[in-house]
This record gives sequence, structure tokens and C-alpha cells, in this order.
Amino acid sequence: MIHFKQVSKHFAGKAVVRDLTLEMAKGEFTVLIGTSGSGKSTTLKMINRLVEHDRGEILFAGEPIEKFRAQDLRRRMGYAIQSIGLFPHWTVEENIATVPQLLKWPKVKIRDRVTELLELLNLDPKQFRHRYPHQLSGGQQQRVGVARALASDPEVLLMDEPFGALDPVTRATLQEEVARIHKMTHRTIVLVTHDIDEALALADRIVLLNDGQVVQQGTPLELLTQPATPFVRDFFGGSD
Ligand code: ADP
Ligand code: MG
Repeated sequence: MIHFKQVSKHFAGKAVVRDLTLEMAKGEFTVLIGTSGSGKSTTLKMINRLVEHDRGEILFAGEPIEKFRAQDLRRRMGYAIQSIGLFPHWTVEENIATVPQLLKWPKVKIRDRVTELLELLNLDPKQFRHRYPHQLSGGQQQRVGVARALASDPEVLLMDEPFGALDPVTRATLQEEVARIHKMTHRTIVLVTHDIDEALALADRIVLLNDGQVVQQGTPLELLTQPATPFVRDFFGGSD
């Protein structure tokens, strides 16, 4: 579904992503993990062209991503980020409906979809549909952010530390919801986190980045039991 071939990205002459080769299969849940500044967000943003790569090749559904207009890519890929980015003067319903509106879905279809998503994310539609973001808790805002990313049933869901600022209980609940959504919809999901437990709980495959490079990628079990380097072992807190 998404294929990076020796991709690099420089900012001000400095490589922040180097020679990245990665494949994310259709339906697979990939977690990009690494310390702060390791290039996770940059990698994610190259998938929906919020950041343009400057070397190598990125393929989406077999085609170089330059072939897609950035706005088309962003309609096909939901994007949820930590700092949520809900529009403060729009209701929950209007926020969730952002992409369906752009796609000119009929009003009734949009309404039904918003109801369905609110239910999926455990927000009572009657209670929350017409609220404004400032009338929601942090966890509820994050849920709306995830609902918005899912609204048009995109082929790919990109999430950048989507539960970053939440308390552990809310965080665990939302992780379970995302896992459930993945089980139900088999969407291709790429999630960025620096939280090891989150990665282990959610990922089909984990990609560990350090200093803009892949240190190791594999299943959670592989990274835990067959760390390729001492760095990997230390990162996952290996005890042996
Ligand atoms: P992560 O998400 O893993 O914390 P990022 O991908 O955000 O890492 O950043 C990787 C490196 O690239 C950091 O050193 C960061 O300062 C730098 N960087 C990211 N975006 C920009 C930008 N727009 N301009 C300049 N440097 C950037
Ligand atoms: Mg980041």
C-alpha cells in the first residue's frame, strides 16, 4: 500500500530521514517508534505530502506519490494528530464532517456517518453532536479527532501521537478503540508513538527509528526477543 524506497529528507541541509526503506502492506497496522527527533512525524507527513521527500521514491498503491494531488491524497488518508486541530467554531458534527463535506456527500449520509462514528468512539451522538470543542474533555476531543480522520472511510489512517496528552486510563481506552476499529475495518494504519507499551499493544509491525534511520523493523515479538542491536534491546527495556 505504501512503499518507501531509500527515502531521505533534509531540513536546512541536515538529513532528518536517511535512506528509509519501508513497506506497509494493505490492512497492516504499522507503528513508527523512536525517541523525540528521530524523524517519525516527518516520515508520516511524507505519506500524505505534508512534507515532500527529497530523495528516493515513495509509492502509494503502486504509484509514485507525486502522481497524486496532495489534496486527493489527504482525502484518501485520514490524519489524526496530538494537537487535535479541531476547528473551535465548528460543532463536533461539523468537525467530523470536514472531508465528507468536501466530497459533497448528501446531508443525510453525512448525518448518519457522524452518528455511526460517534457511537464507534463511545460518544453519545445525542449528547455530543452539537457541542463545540471547548465543551469537551481532552479525551473526548481526541476521540472527535480520530472520528474526523475516519469520516470518509479512508484507505489509510495516519496517526501522530494521537493519545499523547491523555491520562493513562483514557489512553488505554482509546488504544482499545483503535485496535477494535482496525479489527473491524482492516484499514491500513500507520501510528507514530514514543510509547513502547502502545506500540506493543497495537502493532502488527513495529519500525524503530533512530536519528532518521531504521534500526530494526519486525513484529513486536521479534523486536522483543530478537533485538538486532543493543540499542533495540535497551529501547525495549530488555532484561537479558
Ligand atoms: P519526531 O516526530 O520523531 O520527534 P520529527 O520528524 O518531528 O521527529 O523531526 C525530526 C528532526 O527534523 C528534528 O530534529 C526536527 O527538529 C527536524 N524538523 C522537523 N520538521 C522540521 C522543519 N519543518 N524544519 C526544520 N527542521 C525540522
Ligand atoms: Mg513527532
